[in-house]
Amino acid sequence: MPGTFTQELDTPSYKGTVSLSTGLFINGQFVDPIEGATIDVVNPSNGSIVTSVAEGTSKDVDLAVQAAKNAYKTSWGLKVPGKTRGLILGKLADLIEANADEFAALESLNVGKLYRYAQRDVASVVRAFQYFAGWADKIHGKTIETDENRMAYTRHEPFGVCGQIIPWNFPFVMLAWKIAPALATGNTVVLKPSEVTPLTALKFAGLLNEAGVPPGVVNIVVGYGHTVGQAISEHPQIAKVAFTGSTLVGRKILEASSRTNLKVVTLELGGKSPNIIFDDADLEQAVKWAAMGIFYNMGQVCAAGSRIFVQEGIYPKFIEAFTQAAKGISSNAGDPFDNKTQHGPQVSQTQFDRVMGYIESGKKDGACVVTGGSKINSEGFFIEPTVFTDCDKDMKIVREEIFGPVAVVIKFKDEAEVIEMANDTVYGLACAVFTENGSRALRVAHALEAGTAWVNCFGGGDISIPFGGYKQSGIGRELGEYALSTYTQVKAVQVNLGVRL
Ligand code: NAD
Repeated sequence: MPGTFTQELDTPSYKGTVSLSTGLFINGQFVDPIEGATIDVVNPSNGSIVTSVAEGTSKDVDLAVQAAKNAYKTSWGLKVPGKTRGLILGKLADLIEANADEFAALESLNVGKLYRYAQRDVASVVRAFQYFAGWADKIHGKTIETDENRMAYTRHEPFGVCGQIIPWNFPFVMLAWKIAPALATGNTVVLKPSEVTPLTALKFAGLLNEAGVPPGVVNIVVGYGHTVGQAISEHPQIAKVAFTGSTLVGRKILEASSRTNLKVVTLELGGKSPNIIFDDADLEQAVKWAAMGIFYNMGQVCAAGSRIFVQEGIYPKFIEAFTQAAKGISSNAGDPFDNKTQHGPQVSQTQFDRVMGYIESGKKDGACVVTGGSKINSEGFFIEPTVFTDCDKDMKIVREEIFGPVAVVIKFKDEAEVIEMANDTVYGLACAVFTENGSRALRVAHALEAGTAWVNCFGGGDISIPFGGYKQSGIGRELGEYALSTYTQVKAVQVNLGVRL
């Protein structure tokens, strides 16, 4: 019998029960994994074990794919009109909204993210399901007339079974970005949450039957990357894989696809996003946005503004104000459920060690730590917001994604120089430019090699706006109308109107 997890939380901001089933969700039911192992789920604020959940293996992936395939043929896919799929997705959005605070509490408990930001995440999950519910009956092809005797029309058809693999930094948001467009376009899904943060995915699975999602349309298999993740990437019955995570693993998924059935792969990967602040920017605003750009979610954001380029005229003032901002955030580190808290823990011991390793490498390479640079003295995986200056372009802290609360600040002279420096990276996920000169803002936004360019802000967006990377930050786009094309394949039906042989 699959287990359950129930806990009474009495926190400054959430008081109530959280509960979910801890099994795998396959063919509309929670089930035990075939091999029966479990994974411990840790609270990063204090290192304690919250619960343990079922650990799937490739055998469970096989069952999930079978269920998804049957569901595609019998109760979803081309069998179900778009308007019905839209209504079901809308119902799912309502159910998530009705349980919003519990979802936020689970996310906060499992990820260590601030509860009030977890609430924002859940609101955006609701919006994602509503948004793609609206698209479900608007997936149209085109009519193409070639001459009087021949015409064609295109159909935007689903792939069938899609594999989806997601990370731990925004577990519920990433699930919504994957599942909502896949279902809207008629695909069925086998999703693997991160083994570190499975709780909101399991809570979500518990709502699917009530929303009217037919059994097998969504299957959730928790497990490790090298087992469940790899089985999904190699599975011959999976036609498409959507992955969000590191560039290293993205490469493995592409390799697995090329070794097996050449499945379509979309990748949302890492970044080292430049945030460029010109002398004429509104300095106070630029400092606030820059701090949010790198310290939000403890720097565990793929698009984090981790390389801050500041023009020489305002450099000293910027450093002073930005350092104060970082210190202010650091002095309000603590319980993610306390609404006064501004800074929580890193998600896991592994991430804590990784980020501290980067900080040590920056110090060893001779960069200057202006503030931070140490563990925060408390239980849990807390690291001080850290600012480095005097960096060389070849240092690891300048080149590699740290995925923690660590900024490098680099001085520049003019527009041409900063564009060159900002583009000197293998990544291309996002960028930002701060200036009161409108032409320059757009010129620089256009010159930077990135899938998202923010002007006089950093971060945020909307489900209607496409998101994805240039260069080694990814392949394909999620969100907005663009997401529909990554979950459909085009069939051209060619019709003879009268040619006789
Ligand atoms: P990760 O690549 O280690 O893991 C991501 C997922 O892949 C997890 O579910 C993991 O279990 C799975 N995985 C690991 N090895 C696998 C394998 N061999 N085959 C298949 N699956 C495997 O990344 P992470 O540490 O969970 O997340 C952090 C990374 O994700 C960062 O690099 C970050 O930039 C990136 N990210 C990108 C976006 C984006 O939209 N571009 C969003 C969030 C996170």
